[in-house]
Amino acid sequence: MMVRAKGGLPLPTATSPLPSPTSLPSAYFAVGSGSVDVIPRQLLRTSDDRAMLFVGRPYASSLWAYWTASPGLPNTTDDFGGQASTSTSDEPISVEAAYGGGRFVFVLANLQNGELVAYPFDTQTGAFASSSILAASDAVLDTPMDYESVAALGSALGSASLILMDETVDMSWVVRKTTEFFTHESCGKCTPCREGTYWMLHLLERLHDGTPADAGQVDLLQAVARGIEGKCLCPLGEFSIMPVTSGIERFRADFAAHEASGQ
Ligand code: SF4
Repeated sequence: MMVRAKGGLPLPTATSPLPSPTSLPSAYFAVGSGSVDVIPRQLLRTSDDRAMLFVGRPYASSLWAYWTASPGLPNTTDDFGGQASTSTSDEPISVEAAYGGGRFVFVLANLQNGELVAYPFDTQTGAFASSSILAASDAVLDTPMDYESVAALGSALGSASLILMDETVDMSWVVRKTTEFFTHESCGKCTPCREGTYWMLHLLERLHDGTPADAGQVDLLQAVARGIEGKCLCPLGEFSIMPVTSGIERFRADFAAHEASGQ
């Protein structure tokens, strides 16, 4: 991938003809690998003035992100110090990046198998977002860290980052913290995400904050999450329900304990 450095060609005027290709200054540099004319890519500028580049690679089922650490336009390849990737189910033939100025970039990839898939990219952690919570077991611990094997367990490897928690951690607390994040990040454009994340958080707060909880709160929380599923404009809404549904499914006792005690 090639990106033009700042301070390149002057703008043409009515009396200054466009420069011929042979007179172009060598103000281009490489980012990533591959042939410059066949790589689907998107370049954008974040709200904190960094450059981010999202690219596919020829003949590879993967999506790559590169970004600069400092504000301002990059000058050399080395300015793109950050790098992350995620696997795709087929080779991307086009890549678009939808960005509203917040924490997430929604990278849309049109894949050769006909799928149009959105991959949320977290600009703060520098990772493609995922995924469902797994309960530790011998089978889980023995699973190879590759995309197909983790998907077979009902989760996703994403950018290959893991958070490991021991048995002392209250998983309903983890789900509450995750839901706080998604509620804050919801842009509010579509109702299932805007209202749904708010209601999931409200129900989790009722479980934790000493409000006498009615029986059936956990079932209601799960029902609200299911009500959001498949109705959102972008993947953030879909991602918001994964910790809730997988957390209740795999660690229901942690939620039920709060329901019983009212705090
Ligand atoms: S799912 Fe809808 S409300 Fe939520 S962030 Fe995306 S567009 Fe905004």
